[in-house]
Amino acid sequence: LDDDFSTVDLSIALVHYPVLNKNGETIASAVTNLDLHDLARSAKTYGVKTFYVATPLVDQQQLARKIIGHWTEGYGKTYNPDRRDALELIKVVDYVADAVDDVCNRCSQVPETVVTSARKTDRSIGFERFRGILRDGKPYLLLFGTAWGISEEMIRQADWFLEPIYGTTAYNHLSVRAASAIILDRLLGRKNGG
Ligand code: SAM
Repeated sequence: LDDDFSTVDLSIALVHYPVLNKNGETIASAVTNLDLHDLARSAKTYGVKTFYVATPLVDQQQLARKIIGHWTEGYGKTYNPDRRDALELIKVVDYVADAVDDVCNRCSQVPETVVTSARKTDRSIGFERFRGILRDGKPYLLLFGTAWGISEEMIRQADWFLEPIYGTTAYNHLSVRAASAIILDRLLGRKNGG
């Protein structure tokens, strides 16, 4: 029964604004090709409904659309269908609020937002507990950061805060590509084989 995810409605957002820079200032970061491909494939593998790429920068939106378009239209579409199927999950939006609205339009329910971070807070909820909560039939939107992570203000506004992933050393600063794959597997990975 632990492997029944029929009631799960999970979307993810890769946040490019508001994120922090090295000096702790709020900035808009650049979109990277690698993030789009890797997160899209993980999203497709784990049944994520939509992968939102949130950036208000018009040139970055154009870049994201160019990457997606290359593999979902024309030659790229037939050259690599696996890649196409994953990239088709992406929607480019200005802000996380637009992703929330889009989920709301799809399922007539406001999604609860869930922040991921390498830092623990007194609000952090464990993966195992959240794995259960995710099945309550409500839509959820999981937020991943870029640059030096999601801004404090956005973290405060989120409904949930997931505990960090810890390895076996004090170092836990994973790439967003690795962190998202691990988190999706902890929340949605089958425990009893295929
Ligand atoms: N420039 C970096 C890159 O190339 O991936 C971006 C770093 S960004 C701060 C990494 C994001 O991955 C975080 O905002 C968070 O969403 C997630 N992340 C990284 N390490 C994590 C950890 N130990 N536990 C949970 N999430 C983590």
